[in-house]
Amino acid sequence: MNENILLEQISSCIDCKNCNEVCDTFLVTQNPLQSPNGRLKIAEKVFHNKEIAEEEKFGLYTCTLCALCDLRCEQSIEISKIIHASKIKLVEQNKAPYEIHNKIIAGIVDNDNSVGGNPEERLDWLPDAYRKSEVYENKDSDTLLFLGCMSSFRVKESASASYEILKQAGFDFKIFEHEPCCGEYTYSAGKLDLAKKTFHDNFERFKKNGIKNIIVTCGGCFYAFNNVYPEYVEGWDIKVNHIIQVVHELEKNGKIKLNKLKREVTYHDACRMGRKIKDMDIYDEPREILEKCGFSINELEANRVNSLCCGAGSGVRGVDSELCISMGSNLVNTAKDDEIISSCPLCVFNFRYVDYKKKLGKNFRYITDCILEALEK
Ligand code: SF4
Ligand code: SF4
Repeated sequence: MNENILLEQISSCIDCKNCNEVCDTFLVTQNPLQSPNGRLKIAEKVFHNKEIAEEEKFGLYTCTLCALCDLRCEQSIEISKIIHASKIKLVEQNKAPYEIHNKIIAGIVDNDNSVGGNPEERLDWLPDAYRKSEVYENKDSDTLLFLGCMSSFRVKESASASYEILKQAGFDFKIFEHEPCCGEYTYSAGKLDLAKKTFHDNFERFKKNGIKNIIVTCGGCFYAFNNVYPEYVEGWDIKVNHIIQVVHELEKNGKIKLNKLKREVTYHDACRMGRKIKDMDIYDEPREILEKCGFSINELEANRVNSLCCGAGSGVRGVDSELCISMGSNLVNTAKDDEIISSCPLCVFNFRYVDYKKKLGKNFRYITDCILEALEK
């Protein structure tokens, strides 16, 4: 984004501070440097190449980029975009990111994943019954099921259940034997040049393998392929869907049948399933399919477009894990049920981390795992 346009937007701020009222990080810390309004002022300094204090850099890097503040600004200031752009600028000035980001990004470069996973174990989630017959990219299909780092390594049932449902529905797709990272982590940390290289390398590989459609399980990958790749990759023409859109369609067309489980659950909308996703919001499909599974859904106070971040967005957990835990537990504590479902494996993983730290005793589940439980075999 053009810096002059960003500065113009910043100068239109009237300091009403309405945005601060919805910012999770500000509500937890009460630190103005960790508020949207405060971050805009830091970003302004960054764009003017002024020195910023360590606490100001920390303010920028503890933003989850959840974009909730954007909805509150009557001046239509794209606050979260500006914060992200200022991180990119800080990296250009060799003042960012943090060591933790560099360590994780080195892991992505060396091992193709952002979670410290052993690349040899990337496909451990693949059900044994299918392992023998799987031919990976050699299969003649133009649809790729892209699992991403979180599903492949940390919330493996989100990968295996998604794969299994598509197989049982007779859906035509393939997976990569050695899947790359989508680049979202690198991008949100502000390392734009490296992220752009990842985007271009991945596009080349998708093209080489005849990919015209990508199905993702992760909100982060969804955001990257749907919003970011089209901005930086010339000729990007790949259609991107989230697995829940595909499963919703399969159910509608009678390709899968679901039993009624009859339980009450809470559903959490990930930021990168709705307000962060350009030209799409996926709020109805997960609810409709969960209802078809017999679940009765109790809504969180903050839901759909107003949903709160799980606390881990944009690598905040690595920068301030206590803040991340506070945000996650504040959200989870508003849930009526012990069983909480999300369509993003990062949310599920982070909630489980929060649960472990706070001993909440809740059960966090990825949506296709619940659908698989209800699937008529
Ligand atoms: S809501 Fe908009 S105008 Fe008001 S303080 Fe926040 S950024 Fe500025
Ligand atoms: S994007 Fe989210 S965390 Fe960042 S300033 Fe806005 S509301 Fe706060």
